[in-house]
Amino acid sequence: MKCALVTGGSRGIGRAICLKMAEMGYYVLVNYKSNTTEAENTLAQIQQAGGNAELLQLDVSDKEQIKEVLSKWIENHPDHYIEVLVNNAGIKDDSLMLYMEDAQWENVIRNNLDSFFYITRLVLNGMLLKRYGRIINIVSLSGLKGLPGQTNYSAAKAGVIGATKALAQEVGRNGITVNAVAPGLIKTDMTEGMDESEMKKHIPVKRFGTPEEVAHAVGFLASKEAGYITAETLSINGGLYS
Ligand code: NAP
Repeated sequence: MKCALVTGGSRGIGRAICLKMAEMGYYVLVNYKSNTTEAENTLAQIQQAGGNAELLQLDVSDKEQIKEVLSKWIENHPDHYIEVLVNNAGIKDDSLMLYMEDAQWENVIRNNLDSFFYITRLVLNGMLLKRYGRIINIVSLSGLKGLPGQTNYSAAKAGVIGATKALAQEVGRNGITVNAVAPGLIKTDMTEGMDESEMKKHIPVKRFGTPEEVAHAVGFLASKEAGYITAETLSINGGLYS
């Protein structure tokens, strides 16, 4: 059984990616941290669309939980193979650097950067054995441009972009591609409360993006036909930054 593991699949961009993966015929592992109601909502939407999925609750910022829950799942499902991994779960916790607390720095790095390492290392083994895989990391415009108030988040996302390029070179010969997708401003809980009417003036296409638009790009990079694209970072930002 070919599976797609999507971290942070209960809401926002992750949910749209889960639906896209199901549409592409994958059995979807919908990871989430704590919002079971929304995770079940994602699962129901996949099933209503005729897809198959299951929930996998684990905190991607906790390496012990990753080892415990994800490696156990892999061990207990020898007939399932994670062919697509989308490292999507992420948080931000903004503050000017001068006022940033240790915990704000550490949490954002653990959730966005460390999670990439611990999850991907576990999943990579199966892909190497099958000599095929697609790894897609959801980063951010912040990791390309750097944004004031986000030294922690910019550093974490830039770190993932660097790791994407390095890993792509390690595993290219094994039929595995590793790419990043860098959204700009997308309508989700993460951007809730932002003044869209003011901010969209600075975006060439004059609007925020939708989770489905990000999922479309992820679906493209996950496709078999995208096998010659690797180590790339694809911006989806309405022209805000290039
Ligand atoms: P969101 O609406 O806040 O949803 C976050 C998702 O991640 C939820 O499913 C949440 O699970 C999950 N999550 C958070 N921490 C987790 C953890 N430690 N372990 C497991 N799951 C965790 O966020 P979003 O806007 O869809 O963002 C998705 C990704 O896109 C993030 O990496 C974000 O940095 C990136 N991004 C977003 C934007 C934007 O404008 N929205 C722009 C650039 C990049 P629960 O429901 O259980 O809390």
